[in-house]
Amino acid sequence: MTDLPDLARFDAVLFDLDGVLTPTAEVHMHAWQTMFEDLFRAWRITPPYTESDYFEYLDGKKRYDGVASLLRSRDVEVPWGEPADPPAADTVCGIGNRKNEVFARVMRAEGIAPYPGSLALVDRLRAAGVPIAVVSSSKNAEEVLAAAGIRDRFDVVMDGVIAERDGLASKPAPDVFLEAARMLGVEPARSAAVEDALSGVRSASAGGFALVVGVDRGVGEAALVDAGADVVVDDLAAFVD
Ligand SMILES: [Mg+2]
Repeated sequence: MTDLPDLARFDAVLFDLDGVLTPTAEVHMHAWQTMFEDLFRAWRITPPYTESDYFEYLDGKKRYDGVASLLRSRDVEVPWGEPADPPAADTVCGIGNRKNEVFARVMRAEGIAPYPGSLALVDRLRAAGVPIAVVSSSKNAEEVLAAAGIRDRFDVVMDGVIAERDGLASKPAPDVFLEAARMLGVEPARSAAVEDALSGVRSASAGGFALVVGVDRGVGEAALVDAGADVVVDDLAAFVD
């Protein structure tokens, strides 16, 4: 694609995390697998967990809904519990929290490498003095950024923990992008947002950002444009060269 706008001309650039800065989906898949293989073995649940369970019951769902639907597929019923349940609790929430614990452990043990093109853009913007933020729905954003070794590059990190604390509506509502812009002290109408998910593109678009960049990690260019992306790239290195 030619004639991409220069992102350094914007007052700020706000980045989604999972799928934009880091390939986090693989770590989530790995964590679900580890957790459910242990659980199925301990509870003698059959058939055993397979990768297709991830796509059928877990991918794209909220954590607790995913746990409930996968257990239901094996005719296993446990109480819902509540989000504050400890990871050892045999409730839907407890089991979901157990997955989160495994995710954090995998992240610490194996680390995660940011996408090189994304890192190059982040460093170019920093060198140009452009304020940058992370806007993520994830409650693990701080851990992912630390494991990737890039936390200190960002002026603001708006994540699922802050969103829950402040009662902000999740993407595709614009609230989290708008709040991150406020925290940076910039106007959305003079700033750019970068997203790989349709809900995220819709969120930034509804927030009135001057430019919404879609990163196509498999969703497809047409779908990202339909959702409100102004330009679509498959690697953020396109903004660096
Ligand atoms: Mg994403």
